[in-house]
Amino acid sequence: MRRVLAGVAVAAMGFSLGGAWTARGDNRPAPKGPDEDGTKPALVKIAGEGMMDSHAFQYLTELSDDIGARVTGTPAERKAEEWGVAKMKAIGLENVHKEKYQLWRGWTRGTAQGELLEPIRRPLHVDAMGWTGSTPAGGAEGEVVTANLFDIDDEVKNASRLSGKIVLMVMQGMPKKNADSLFAIFGDFLKAASKAGAIAVIGGQAGSKASGMNLTHTGILGFDADFAIPVLSMTAEDQGQLERYVESGKKVRARFNVQNTFSNGPVESANVVGEIRGRENPEQVLVVGAHLDSWDLSEGATDNGTGSASVLGSAEAIVRSGMRPRRTIRFVLFTGEEQGLDGSFAYMKQHQSEMANHLGDLVLDEGQGPVKEFMLGGRDDVVASFRPFAESLSSIRDIPVNDKVENGTDTLPFSMAGLPGINMNQDSPDYKYTHHSPADALEAVKPEVLAQNATLMALTAFWIADRPERFASPWPAEKTARMLRAQHQYEMLKAFGLWKFGDLGTRDTGKSDSAQN
Ligand SMILES: [Zn+2]
Repeated sequence: MRRVLAGVAVAAMGFSLGGAWTARGDNRPAPKGPDEDGTKPALVKIAGEGMMDSHAFQYLTELSDDIGARVTGTPAERKAEEWGVAKMKAIGLENVHKEKYQLWRGWTRGTAQGELLEPIRRPLHVDAMGWTGSTPAGGAEGEVVTANLFDIDDEVKNASRLSGKIVLMVMQGMPKKNADSLFAIFGDFLKAASKAGAIAVIGGQAGSKASGMNLTHTGILGFDADFAIPVLSMTAEDQGQLERYVESGKKVRARFNVQNTFSNGPVESANVVGEIRGRENPEQVLVVGAHLDSWDLSEGATDNGTGSASVLGSAEAIVRSGMRPRRTIRFVLFTGEEQGLDGSFAYMKQHQSEMANHLGDLVLDEGQGPVKEFMLGGRDDVVASFRPFAESLSSIRDIPVNDKVENGTDTLPFSMAGLPGINMNQDSPDYKYTHHSPADALEAVKPEVLAQNATLMALTAFWIADRPERFASPWPAEKTARMLRAQHQYEMLKAFGLWKFGDLGTRDTGKSDSAQN
């Protein structure tokens, strides 16, 4: 779901995430990196396997070309699960299996056609947003009117004016909400527009506009959210023209025929799991994950084929090195990420009883670029111990470390459990074009970047699982709630009904128990 707000972010209010880590003022011993903690020889072997004998791009090619698009709950996604199981077994992982769960509802894309009727006549390029509905059979036509995303509360109140209209989302003036809140309230607007009898809404995730030349971008419009009204991503060129017409006072009429299908009830999906069991504390688990599911306008190579191939590539580098970490590394190919992190939320539920034994999770899901940042998912207390490891990677790449939370991928459920949901953030300037679009194809991925990312994932996973001291234990709920509020996650989680902490974290304890000064 990452970068769902790309089109909004530029104009939306900025909000700062996380506290900058500063030097510790206590007398704890300096944290040890691989040179001092005994992990270095194993890491050298793993790096050699990862960089010199990588199959990550081969895995990505298979996933892109042999399976292609794999929307959660569809036959193609089930095929991807079988592929993941077979790959994990071939790599030599232990306890390879699937963990089933149910998605609230399935969805299948049909056709989406648009035609501008006035002031000139020509085809419009659109694709349906995920889990949105259909026009009447044969389509419907109407006048195009605008609704201002930046004044969305009023638009919800005045939705009755949208009866029989085609609604074009625009961004005018200054936003009255931050980007995450806009995402949530856009769902309220869609419901209001639907109730008012609007024909369709033109707008992408969070009501955003498409990026790139002649590209549409699909995606979900909330966590486990479906909408009866057709919501359409339109190419930036077509949408810009409609905006100009409306702004200049021209009468604009269009016709859309959109046909999608929902399943009647829940559909089955499954996470794919395999392990390298720990040699000393096998009960302690680090999850290394990415999402196997994708959208369906292309192959899902950058979202999240790169992450899935990195998970498999990292597992393979460690297995082939012959090195076994002290604790268990559990590799998970999550599904349902694109519908609202359903796979990773299901994982947390299914593994509730062993959560105290988890060390965190490590995720790569930021497109096709090289890793540029380790975001430790809210855990400022582990930044200092992680930093010497990150510095040990400097001959591969300089990668800064911070405690920021990533809420757009499978890190979030772990951060909400008080564990480090570690995001390997990437430098992916082209991701705004490939994200959920017809350009999300293998052509966008460089094999050498993928091999390096997979190797960095392997090194990070092994170091966390193998270092003599346990890396992290879950924080208590109170402390987690306070961190999530401090990192400005409360508003979004509350808006989507995901805040499970009640009033926790509001109490001012008078002192900070974190490493922040
Ligand atoms: Zn993704």
